[in-house]
Amino acid sequence: MNQLRYFVPQQLEKVTRAVEMAEELISNYYKLSSSQLRRLNYDVKTLADLSPEEIVSGHFAQIVKYKSKRKDVLRETEAEDFYKICLQDHSILTALEMHPDLEFLGFLLYIVCHELIHVVRFRRFLQQFDASAAEKMAEEQRVHAKTHEILSNLSIDGIAGVLNFYENWRNPPHQVEQP
Ligand SMILES: [Zn+2]
Repeated sequence: MNQLRYFVPQQLEKVTRAVEMAEELISNYYKLSSSQLRRLNYDVKTLADLSPEEIVSGHFAQIVKYKSKRKDVLRETEAEDFYKICLQDHSILTALEMHPDLEFLGFLLYIVCHELIHVVRFRRFLQQFDASAAEKMAEEQRVHAKTHEILSNLSIDGIAGVLNFYENWRNPPHQVEQP
């Protein structure tokens, strides 16, 4: 694993902004009320708030699914599970340095939108968390296409550079489940 580096406070402010923007975009796209958005039961965390097993290299983010700890079997439904969207500061910072066309806010907006689309699709059972490797790859393409669709209508500085970057970005899926 490459050296861990963390977002500085100024970057963390932009992460917060990107999450707010992404939640609004995804809510609009999927027509979610604020209570429906809350019931997706996810959180977005940066490297400083990740445990060692939530940290990966080679991905900008990963989703870790936590099973409900509740004993009540009747209530142990999919909706009780919690999705932790784990942003990988070190990988994001390296990509920003290697690709000068990438702008921080737009890049984070893409990453968070992408992960939120995954969460919505898991919640709506459009996609199984434990799908086969081939199905996960196909889902990855669908989620990238939707992210592109949602962001391509935005007039935000730097978004064109981000969409251009992702035109050729192909990476294996990135979801794991913690007991
Ligand atoms: Zn993905």
